[in-house]
Amino acid sequence: TIGIIALDAQGNLSGACTTSGMAYKMRGRIGDSPIIGAGLYVDNEIGAATSTGVGEEVIRIVGCHLVVELMRQGHSPGDACRLAVERILKKSPQKAKQVQVGFLALNKNGEYGAYCLQKGFTYAVHTSAGNKLYDGLSHF
Ligand code: ASP
Repeated sequence: TIGIIALDAQGNLSGACTTSGMAYKMRGRIGDSPIIGAGLYVDNEIGAATSTGVGEEVIRIVGCHLVVELMRQGHSPGDACRLAVERILKKSPQKAKQVQVGFLALNKNGEYGAYCLQKGFTYAVHTSAGNKLYDGLSHF
């Protein structure tokens, strides 16, 4: 999945995502990306979130909506992403070694963060200060 979330100069949030789905997917399968609230969610009052990884796990917790609601409750973007991943693990702890799931979030103040289960998830940030690459295993 490629997910993009943005805050413009007027303070408006937006988001988009696209995916090729999972390898060996069943015919007709749709992942989390086309489901608003699962693979992408934007609330212009609070923040935006997008996800990558095994879509079934994200759909099960309506992941990106959850991340935005956690930010509404006061969590930082990185913490909200971590809590969403932990929600997946709480439902099925054995998933920790089997699946990759990651969330990326941005709030109305321009703060951002991410969290994922396993290595292999990097994200890029563009601000007026330039571009940076981050490892999704670390959040802030
Ligand atoms: N989230 C996508 C899906 O489940 C897979 C991906 O990360 O590309 O379809």
